[in-house]
Amino acid sequence: MLQAKTEYGNIMTLASYTREEISFLQKHTQFFCPACQEPVIVKAGSKMIPHFAHKSKSSCPVREGGEGPYHEKGKLLLYQWLKYQRLDVELEVYLPSINQRPDLLINLKHKKVAIEYQCARIPPADIIKRNEGYQREGIIPIWILGANQFDRRKSNEIGIDQFRLHFIHQFSVNFPLTLYFFCPDTLRLTSFQDLHFPVMQRAMGEITIRKLDEMVFTDLFTVSFAARENLFKRWKQKKRSFRTRPSRRMFGQELAWNHWLYANSAHRETLPSIIYLPVSAQFRMLTQPWDWQSRLCLEIIHPVAAGGTFSLQRCMHMLHRHIRSASLPLIQSEPNPVYQYLQLLIELKVINESAPDHFTKLKPIIFYDHIESALKGDALLMDQFLPP
Ligand SMILES: [Zn+2]
Repeated sequence: MLQAKTEYGNIMTLASYTREEISFLQKHTQFFCPACQEPVIVKAGSKMIPHFAHKSKSSCPVREGGEGPYHEKGKLLLYQWLKYQRLDVELEVYLPSINQRPDLLINLKHKKVAIEYQCARIPPADIIKRNEGYQREGIIPIWILGANQFDRRKSNEIGIDQFRLHFIHQFSVNFPLTLYFFCPDTLRLTSFQDLHFPVMQRAMGEITIRKLDEMVFTDLFTVSFAARENLFKRWKQKKRSFRTRPSRRMFGQELAWNHWLYANSAHRETLPSIIYLPVSAQFRMLTQPWDWQSRLCLEIIHPVAAGGTFSLQRCMHMLHRHIRSASLPLIQSEPNPVYQYLQLLIELKVINESAPDHFTKLKPIIFYDHIESALKGDALLMDQFLPP
């Protein structure tokens, strides 16, 4: 932490003193944690932002989880950046009512915003708990991840594991899913927006990189959506690699899905083209998009004769184990991925919505004989989503 209390009760920020002053203070002043009142140690190595640390046996409720100099530096830079904009911002203010100490707290006219700069991995339960605390206090949390968590895989793709999944923001229903990253060394703040998950642990999105000194606080709320055309173009490639990727050793969920395919005399290479389409609410699913979409097609839609009907409720019931039961802490809406998928099938004129949440099948689902015809069929189907 960057601040501590002296024995006289003054709050001090070490980073605003020179090396000489700090070594003087270190010898002549005792410092205490403003939250737990335990004595804390001065850390002022040559390559770090001078800060305080709890002793190793501390049981402080807001004890820093070994975040280290990278985190301290980033936090201080974000603080200075907000201060420079004349915002009413507090550093490491302890909130006794919720027993939390956000890295930064901004007091706006009608609301408060907590900024957490998170570089170390913490258990999802902690993230959820802290967000609940902020919610109780009416504080809006913004979590900015350390750039060390920015796992870029391709120009517009990043890796998203269970930890990072919990930091996806959606401030309002029409706001795109957004992740923030900040690097204190390059001063770059990256927004990754409008996430679509082609596979469970990876998201495609729109990347905006800005230098911190060239942006203001409200720039955090600018939005960038993927053009629908680009999304479907990218997805067309994903579909192709889904069909053509060589079989490998399988385990877990993928193995279970393959057993299910086998039991249904189906094969990945000859599945209907309507399986594996992009839905923005994939983040709510616990299985791969092709997994739940194929079950929906083969177990519900395929057995229905053309002209026959089925309900959304039946689909949800069949897939209930595939849908995340708890919602993610920073996401405001709960779009239904199954309903979104059915909307795409409506667009393709495979079904229509004959009554609210009730669907009529319009034409049979086509299976392929071999991979070549499947690849051709996929390309034609994806082109139906693109402008002529
Ligand atoms: Zn403490």
